[in-house]
Amino acid sequence: MSANEEQTFIAIKPDGVQRGLIGPIISRFENRGFKLVAMKLTSPARSTSRSTTLISPPSPSSRVSLPQSTNTTEDMLSGPICAMVWEGKDAVKTGRVLLGATNPLASAPGTIRGDYAIDVGRNVCHGSDSVENAKKEIALWFGASEVLKYTSAQAAWVYE
Ligand code: GDP
Ligand code: MG
Repeated sequence: MSANEEQTFIAIKPDGVQRGLIGPIISRFENRGFKLVAMKLTSPARSTSRSTTLISPPSPSSRVSLPQSTNTTEDMLSGPICAMVWEGKDAVKTGRVLLGATNPLASAPGTIRGDYAIDVGRNVCHGSDSVENAKKEIALWFGASEVLKYTSAQAAWVYE
């Protein structure tokens, strides 16, 4: 995989979906030059194993334990999410820059959370925090055939 093909898992959380922010959030990534390679609207499911709360896509085959608070779990389970894979140079780190700080009140204007959110439990979006976790999250939410390979018509104008 070339440096320009790094992938990150970005999800618009239930609050973002309900507030009609799918379009604006996608636009941030499109406008920056990243390439959308997978997307679906889906309702996360819950299952419990030992003391760990698990959040998983509706498909029964795969599950993950997300290192998140109970509040977060309830937040993620409260309605449909828009799950996406975005591709491009430094997509994981730069994706989180586009999202802004975890606490929206500490997020700079111009970031998604800094422009669209106030409370940390309603911070409208999720982004992978490392390349390794991105790979895990993408594999959890998408089958291999759902992550598309195609050449963007813009590639030569985005990358030197
Ligand atoms: P992120 O990677 O910036 O999303 O932050 P974390 O991975 O640390 O936390 C995951 C999510 O849990 C955050 O996006 C918040 O929605 C939520 N969260 C984290 N800390 C708190 C908290 O103190 N209170 C509440 N209500 N939610 C929190
Ligand atoms: Mg996180």
